[in-house]
Amino acid sequence: MNVLEERICKDGVVKEGNVLKVDSFLNHQMDVNLFNEMGKEYARRFKGKNINKILTIESSGIGIASVAALHFPGAPVVFAKKSQSINLDGDMYTAEVESFTHKNVNHVIVSKKYLTPEDHVLIIDDFLANGCALQGLIQICNQAGATVEGIGIAIEKGFQPGGRMIRNMGYQLESLAIVDSMDAKTGTIKFREQ
Ligand code: 5GP
Repeated sequence: MNVLEERICKDGVVKEGNVLKVDSFLNHQMDVNLFNEMGKEYARRFKGKNINKILTIESSGIGIASVAALHFPGAPVVFAKKSQSINLDGDMYTAEVESFTHKNVNHVIVSKKYLTPEDHVLIIDDFLANGCALQGLIQICNQAGATVEGIGIAIEKGFQPGGRMIRNMGYQLESLAIVDSMDAKTGTIKFREQ
């Protein structure tokens, strides 16, 4: 079991509705030493890829991506902003993302200044469930003409369809913990062997 899986077992809370709460170390209070270990692991898994930018989405991706960036020298972190209204003045890339946790639709926006055809992007996010957030970030990279070199996720819920869909699209998707099943009644969590 890796350090993230161990931490999920120790401090994660399984809620009804297929939600895993990890507020004590990832989504509210943040354990940056753990993020640093995760960043090292992303660097190992994406070794040899020519990554010059990290793209994430607010809010929970920002902490993980920022600490991970220390292991990708020279790569700034850009975060897609969530916005209820779209700015149509043409200086933003936009995509629609349905929120798994809040069940609403957000527009996510990235300024054209910070993503260009020269960029080789590592996308990082906290959770992968149905894959809507990732699809939005991939669309934004495509609009920019940037190359998606890989996708690093902290926790993939392997019993939901996002992981298979993104791998079928041909992307190198690396999830540090893949939950194959979890039970809100007993609190048990089973991880996929990697
Ligand atoms: P997706 O777009 O893949 O359906 O969901 C990914 C987004 O939803 C993540 O950015 C994360 O913020 C949120 N999310 C999805 N499932 C969970 C979960 O079980 N626990 C928490 N804390 N967030 C989740």
